[in-house]
Amino acid sequence: MYTFTSHYIDGRWTAAGKERIAVFDPATEERIGEVPAGTSADADAAVAAATRAFPAWSALPHAERAALLERLTDLLINRRERLAAALVAEVGSPASFTAAVQVGLPLVTFGSQPGLLGAVAWRSEVGHSVVVREAAGVVVAITPWNYPLHQIAAKVAPALAVGCTVVLKPSEVAPVNAFLLAEAIEEAGFPPGVFNLVCGTGTQVGERLVAHPGVDVVSFTGSTAAGRRIGALAAATVKQVHLELGGKSPSVLLHDADLPTAVADGLAKAFVNSGQTCTALSRMIVPRSRLAEAEEIAAAAVVNHRLVDPAAETEGLRPVVLADRLGHIAFTFALGPLVSAAQRERVTRYVREGLREGARLVAGGPERPEEFERGHYVRPTVFSDTAPDMTIVREEIFGPVLCLQAYEGEDEAVALANGTPYGLCAAVWSADTDRATAVAGRLRAGQVEINGARFNPFAPFGGYKQSGHGRELGLWGLETFLQTKSLQLP
Ligand code: NAD
Repeated sequence: MYTFTSHYIDGRWTAAGKERIAVFDPATEERIGEVPAGTSADADAAVAAATRAFPAWSALPHAERAALLERLTDLLINRRERLAAALVAEVGSPASFTAAVQVGLPLVTFGSQPGLLGAVAWRSEVGHSVVVREAAGVVVAITPWNYPLHQIAAKVAPALAVGCTVVLKPSEVAPVNAFLLAEAIEEAGFPPGVFNLVCGTGTQVGERLVAHPGVDVVSFTGSTAAGRRIGALAAATVKQVHLELGGKSPSVLLHDADLPTAVADGLAKAFVNSGQTCTALSRMIVPRSRLAEAEEIAAAAVVNHRLVDPAAETEGLRPVVLADRLGHIAFTFALGPLVSAAQRERVTRYVREGLREGARLVAGGPERPEEFERGHYVRPTVFSDTAPDMTIVREEIFGPVLCLQAYEGEDEAVALANGTPYGLCAAVWSADTDRATAVAGRLRAGQVEINGARFNPFAPFGGYKQSGHGRELGLWGLETFLQTKSLQLP
C-alpha cells in the first residue's frame, strides 16, 4: 500500500488533517493507497513557506542550484523502478511504456536543466539599458494524471532551476509519484520551502493556490474546463498563467502519402497511453478517394494493439537509454485500462454518441472487451463516415478512439484539421517533405510532426487556441519562469 498522511511543506513532512483521498489501481480496481485531502490552510502554509524561501534560493549562483538538480536526477535514477511500479499501479500504463516514457521523460527533463541554464541570455544590452532575466517568484504547479510525473517535471524542474520556489498540487487521481519525488527532493537537500507538496482536490486546494495573492505564476496542465476557471480566478490578482490544455489533434494524410505507414503511425499515436494523451492524433484526415484503403489498413492495424495487464506487460517497448540521460521515445502496441471507472464511462458514452450521430464503426465499439473481467478496459475503436460537426469529431474523448475524416482537396484538408476549438498538435504525411512542411505551416497547432517524426523533449510544447498558452520543455520551458527587468543606466 502507498500510504501518505503528510504534506511536504517548508522542508518537513507536516501531518495533515484526517480526510484522505483513496488511490486505485485501474487494472485491478483495488485500493492501493491514500493521500491527504488538503485544505485551504495547507495551501496557505505551502505558499508562505515558498515565499520565505524565495529570496535566498533565487539569489544562489546558478551552479549551486544546478548541482542540487544533478543530485536529484541521480536519486530519481536510483529510484526509477520504484517510480515505475507506482506509476503502473496508479495510472495503468503498460510497464515497458511506463519505464520509457512515464519515468524516462521526467529524468530527461530534470537531468537537462543544468545544461539549459547555460543557454539563457541572463544579461543583454540595448542602448543605454541592461536587460536582466530573473526568477519570476513563487510558482504554483497544478498537474493531471495521464503523464503525471512528466507533467510535474516539465514545471518543477525548470522553475527550481531558474530560482523560483514551487508549490506542487498533483492530480488526486495519480498522486503517489509526486510523494516519491518529494522524498527524493528532501534527500537531495534542497533548502526548506523551495519545493512544497500539497495534495487535494482542485476545488479545495487548487483554487485556493490559484487565487492566493502571494503566488506569482500558475502553471497548469489539465482540462480546458479547469483551465478556463483557473484563468478567471488568477485574473483577480493579475498573475502570470500558463495553460497546457486539451486537444483534438489531426493527422493529415496528403494524396501522395504512404498510406500503410501513415495510417499505422496515426493509429498508434491516437491510441498511445490508451488515448489518454493530450497530443493524441485522434482524427485522421484522409483523401476521399483513398478512404476505403485507409479503413482497411486501420482495421487490420487495430489488431496489433493488444489490451494487456499493465503490470505483467514486458514486450511493448525497450526501456529508455539513460546513459546520456536522453530518452528515445517510441510507441507501444500494448494498451492498459483507462485510469478510472469515470473515464471508462466517459469514453464509452462518446462511442455510443458517435453511433447515435451516424458514424460507422471500422473497429472496436462500446462493449466491454471480453478478455478482462475487471479493470477499466475499453476496446480500441475506429470510426469512419464522420461529419465535422459530430460530437466525437469536435470534443476531446481521452480514450483510444480514432475518427477518420474524408476530404477532396488540400484546402478542405487544412480546414478540417483546423476545424475544432483546439490546436495542440498535428501531423502531416506526404511523399514530398517540402509539401508536408508547407501544409504544416497552415495548421493552427503548437507542434506538427512531419512524416511520423518523433516527439522531441527539447522542442517547445504547448497549444494554440483553446489548447492553452505558454510553452514547456527545453529552453522555452525554462524561460517561462523568468521575469525581465530593464536597468536604465546613466
Ligand atoms: P483536470 O482538469 O480535471 O485536472 C487537472 C488538475 O487540475 C488536477 O490536479 C485537478 O485537481 C486540478 N483542478 C481541477 N479543477 C481545478 C480548479 N477549478 N482549480 C484548480 N485546480 C483544478 O484534468 P485531468 O482529468 O487530470 O487530465 C486530463 C485533461 O488534461 C485532458 O483534458 C487532457 O487533454 C489535459 N492534458 C493536457 C496536457 C497538455 O500539455 N496540453 C497534457 C496532459 C493532459
